[in-house]
Amino acid sequence: MAENFIEEIIENDFAEGKIEQTITRFPPEPNGYLHIGHAKSLCLNFGVKAKYNGRCNLRYDDTNPTKESEEYVDAIEQDIKWLGFEWDELHFASDYFDTMYSCAVTLIKKGLAYVDDMTAEEINATRGTFTTPGIESKNRNRPIEESLSLFEDMKNGKFQDGTMILRAKIDMASPNLNMRDPVIYRVLRANHQHTGDKWCIYPMYDFAHPIEDASERITHSLCTLEFEDHRPLYNWYVENCDFEKPLPRQIEFAWLNIEGTVLSKRFLKRLVEEGKVMGWDDPRMPTLCGMRRRGIPADAIKDFCHRVGIAKANSTVEAEYLDSCVRENLNQTANRVMAVFDPLKVVLTNYEGKEDLDVEDNPNAEVVTTRKVSFSKEIYIDRSDFALVPPPKYHRLKVDGYVRLKGAYIIHCDEAVTDESGKVVQLNCSVVENSKSGSDTSGVKVKGVIQWVDANNYTKILVRELSNMLIEDDGETDLLDRFNPDSLKEISVCAEKALENAQVGDKFQFMRMGYYCKDKDVQNGVDVYNSVVGLKASFKPQK
Ligand code: ATP
Ligand code: MG
Repeated sequence: MAENFIEEIIENDFAEGKIEQTITRFPPEPNGYLHIGHAKSLCLNFGVKAKYNGRCNLRYDDTNPTKESEEYVDAIEQDIKWLGFEWDELHFASDYFDTMYSCAVTLIKKGLAYVDDMTAEEINATRGTFTTPGIESKNRNRPIEESLSLFEDMKNGKFQDGTMILRAKIDMASPNLNMRDPVIYRVLRANHQHTGDKWCIYPMYDFAHPIEDASERITHSLCTLEFEDHRPLYNWYVENCDFEKPLPRQIEFAWLNIEGTVLSKRFLKRLVEEGKVMGWDDPRMPTLCGMRRRGIPADAIKDFCHRVGIAKANSTVEAEYLDSCVRENLNQTANRVMAVFDPLKVVLTNYEGKEDLDVEDNPNAEVVTTRKVSFSKEIYIDRSDFALVPPPKYHRLKVDGYVRLKGAYIIHCDEAVTDESGKVVQLNCSVVENSKSGSDTSGVKVKGVIQWVDANNYTKILVRELSNMLIEDDGETDLLDRFNPDSLKEISVCAEKALENAQVGDKFQFMRMGYYCKDKDVQNGVDVYNSVVGLKASFKPQK
């Protein structure tokens, strides 16, 4: 069953016998790291492969001889593999430069392309507008033989950069401006990372892309909406360059936009280059490597892309939508541990010695395992779990009140010790007899359960509380000025010893606090954890 309009088109193509197998492709430009917008395109293209038992290629769109680098190529492959996708063929668009050249020659021979000497400014000035037709170049009806030999001269370096172009001969009066004799090739002396100095002419994207697709026998070339107006040109190129049928078919889908984030490699690169963030993999970045480092599981990203779906109109998705996919995933998969962010010492006056308690790792796991958590006369609880002047219906700890320590005992608060300023510095409590978790026969009913750590046996960690990298948009401010310097806050936290065995990338639910993931960084010998997502949807103030 088709789940979106693209799958409907594909199923129709099968039904009408137009195709025997789907072949899609993911065509990133290797000029930066992939972000979650790319994940949407990946999920779509590799989703078609999986659903229709087809093929999907990875193709680097390197037709522009620019600052593309190996670093990006490696990172892109790592990210795609992390999402769990496997490409069938790996290509570089530049591998098709010879094919593109001969396609251009074919067009000239058919009288469908001509060499022109207009500059970029002249082209713009003569293109016309939506209401007026363009002006035909004086070279438009140049004899085929002349264009052929000039085009060869272009290739052989006889012209200066920007002085000669090859143009398609379509229709200067077309209501679609893309069809008004678009440029096919330009002269450009630039060293290309793959082809070196072999070429001094480079094809335009609109010409190159359909030829790459047709060369790989792509059946459905899925791209974002801004290419909709280019589709007639795409079709014109594949039809006139004599490719074997079935010809590739371009289908456009909506961009993925997420509130409070900017999905653009160029912008993300500026953040990196200007040192606003720790790098492409800063855990606040919407890059796939940043999200991975933050602790967002690949499955949650795929789930999110699937739920957002494929639409024909652009829209912006709330960030909370992604968060809820992450939360749902981690609720099932992350082990629970206890951590105290703002420690308040509790002395258990009637408890002597120490013991190792068995505490559940994850109540949602298929097989529920336990770990040992040490317990002794002195523990820490979170300051926010005690109130000297409790509000009504307060279920946490107060003087003369009870609370259950998770996985341990019920305690009774006998006394709050304050300093001269009135600040509570210690609680003296007593353990309720026979109240041990799992074998509680005390008969004492408590509503509150709080986390704690053994004050004589814990580990210190550094938690990075991460929040939105961008401050709300007023529409005008330069994106870089919208960078939120408070988006990363460091807190020293007391956590249970079990975390000393954690590996980089391990994700935990810090009970009642949120989900956290162990970072690769170690700061002054202390392990660093990134906040992944809160336990509940955060309260959103009215705009
Ligand atoms: P950027 O502006 O971030 O560089 P791009 O579209 O130029 O993005 P490409 O490397 O050309 O990046 O993109 C590879 C593929 O990913 C393209 O097919 C593109 O349409 C798709 N893609 C990129 N960003 C998004 C997005 N936000 N939503 C959906 N698809 C996207
Ligand atoms: Mg791009």
